[in-house]
Amino acid sequence: MNIRFLGTGAAEGIPSFGCTCRQCKLARKEGGLNVRKRASLLVEVNSRRILLDTPPEISLLLNQAEVFNLTAIFLSHEHYDHIGGLIEFEFWNQVLPIFAGFDTLPHLRLTPRLESRALLSGFSTQSFLHFADLRIMPFKVSPHVPCYGFSFEANRKRVVHFTDSSSELSDLHRHIAKEADLVIFHTPTFETNRNHLSVQNVISLVKDSSLKRVIITHINHNNFSHTELEEKVAPWAITVAHDGLSLEV
Ligand SMILES: [Zn+2]
Ligand SMILES: [Zn+2]
Repeated sequence: MNIRFLGTGAAEGIPSFGCTCRQCKLARKEGGLNVRKRASLLVEVNSRRILLDTPPEISLLLNQAEVFNLTAIFLSHEHYDHIGGLIEFEFWNQVLPIFAGFDTLPHLRLTPRLESRALLSGFSTQSFLHFADLRIMPFKVSPHVPCYGFSFEANRKRVVHFTDSSSELSDLHRHIAKEADLVIFHTPTFETNRNHLSVQNVISLVKDSSLKRVIITHINHNNFSHTELEEKVAPWAITVAHDGLSLEV
């Protein structure tokens, strides 16, 4: 299974327009790994290719990644940074299955052109959707806004993606993450924050549990720069994702 991080920024991306904070200035000046487009992930197994979330810059991200076909799109929740680019797919030249939670579907904005090519479906939690050798299980991550994480399984490997989860993981979440070959967490900020899982929360989790391999993504401009963050999490063997990071699981 190949995992590609197309974008790794949180809601506003880095640099955030109109912002002159240290991180945003650094991203404008030095570019490179300091720039984070909003979060989107590609999961590839043989010829099947699943896109997770459609940030506003999705057409740019797919062009840069040279992705010209998709098996399906999965949407995690209704926030703009995750579904804002969905209407870009009115220019996609294939019929496209799009999956979202039943409580997310009413928030999707489709143009008539997109409606004619989108196969919209609601998914249920803790049940599997199969795409040849790949199976996907959605599960709920946040009680505030209906938001879903996903377990991707193929060739006896499993990747668990916690999208925008709240600061505490439930027993169910710990059970799903246990024994996974890779666990991906969204950590906008470094310091613990009431609404979102933080880098500090993930460090505590890694200390307390036996997660095999952990990657953090969905990072905002209040967090550290890429290099600083890498240094901070190095003792726990946590990987900091960057735009374009691709790895085989
Ligand atoms: Zn987000
Ligand atoms: Zn900023």
